[in-house]
Amino acid sequence: MSARMSALDSALHQLDQAVEQLGLDEGMHEMLATPRRSMEVAVPLRRDDGTLKVLKGYRVQHNFSRGPAKGGIRFHPDTDMDEVRALAMWMTWKCALIGIPYGGAKGGVAVDPRLLSRNELERVTRRYASEIMPIIGPEKDIPAPDVGTDEQTMAWMMDTFSAHKGYTVTGVVTGKPVSVGGSEGRGGATSRGVMYAAFSALREAGVDHRGATVAVQGFGKVGGLAAQFLHDAGCLVVAVSDWKGGVYNARGLNPAALLKHLKSGADTVVGFPGTDTITNAELLELDVDILVPAALEGVIHEGNADKVKAFFVVEGANGPTTPDADKVLEGNNVLVVPDVLANSGGVAVSYFEWVQDLQAYFWSEDEVNDRLKALMESAYDQVSTMARERGISLRTAAQTIGVGRVAQAHRTRGLYP
Ligand code: GLU
Repeated sequence: MSARMSALDSALHQLDQAVEQLGLDEGMHEMLATPRRSMEVAVPLRRDDGTLKVLKGYRVQHNFSRGPAKGGIRFHPDTDMDEVRALAMWMTWKCALIGIPYGGAKGGVAVDPRLLSRNELERVTRRYASEIMPIIGPEKDIPAPDVGTDEQTMAWMMDTFSAHKGYTVTGVVTGKPVSVGGSEGRGGATSRGVMYAAFSALREAGVDHRGATVAVQGFGKVGGLAAQFLHDAGCLVVAVSDWKGGVYNARGLNPAALLKHLKSGADTVVGFPGTDTITNAELLELDVDILVPAALEGVIHEGNADKVKAFFVVEGANGPTTPDADKVLEGNNVLVVPDVLANSGGVAVSYFEWVQDLQAYFWSEDEVNDRLKALMESAYDQVSTMARERGISLRTAAQTIGVGRVAQAHRTRGLYP
């Protein structure tokens, strides 16, 4: 295998492992590897200067055997159909693993949102939402934020869908602002879940999280708040990074101060007073207890896995570790808490948001956080029990549970016609 496996290669390889664990036949394997529906759309954009640019947009519904398809929308220049297919497949296993009644989907537009004005971003979002409108809806497929999108993107999507319908449909997307049907606690849910997953792993290993050192790659929506929550809980966050590079301080950083720095207009953490500058590659190789990759796929690969010194890798991102790297990490006794478990807090609270929207009855933030904690701790226990019983990695156990539940749904429903 090459040093840089694609996300789709990784996802298919992981599926192979689960299929082997479950002893599924070739037909079922093919069924689970194949997305049920893939859509590619043109997204014409009128730039502020009057010129026209046609972007490519995607939405893949990998599976809906257990309920409507669910998953985020990514705005990133490198997004393509294969990446979206991989991310949609991971959503299917993630939803099944944590026991929420959804299949998996993912969408994206190949664009760098940082290069667009706010008005251009709104036009791209609304046009993309209109193009995929035939296949989304509260009972069909429910988008949410992902890399490069946020709660404002979701508000525009909800508004566009509602305008076409002629009435307000809050349940068509999740991750919305609380003022228009969003849930308390959704904004920090993925990050909070990363913390719960990390603490479950540490507890199991008999390690106290207080004073544990942490490095976070990707100081964005997931990594930024994960760093803050871990810091607030007593960990020592020594390094964080973003697209431009990273900052390091052996005595600990103050994530809240870094977040404030970004909020007040800085476009990177690099150069923050009282820190040393490091590269993203250096951050991954730091001698810390917990490493949280919270950016993009494939950052821990065959070429650098051997240099990872952390005891725990807790995957805030989707697919940050390639299968080649998994093998190396396992050989070096690095415990990887896999993406479908570690970052499932986001979609878990998306599910709570959708339930609240459908009932038009909203919960307190404490209620949301308590339910999230219970759900994540239960998922962790199931995964670690299977891993122990079968002598397999947490990743293969998590995938096996998720894939097994989807295969079971297919069997129970039967094949039409
Ligand atoms: N984009 C997030 C993920 O990868 C959240 C998806 C959702 O809430 O539907 O899990």
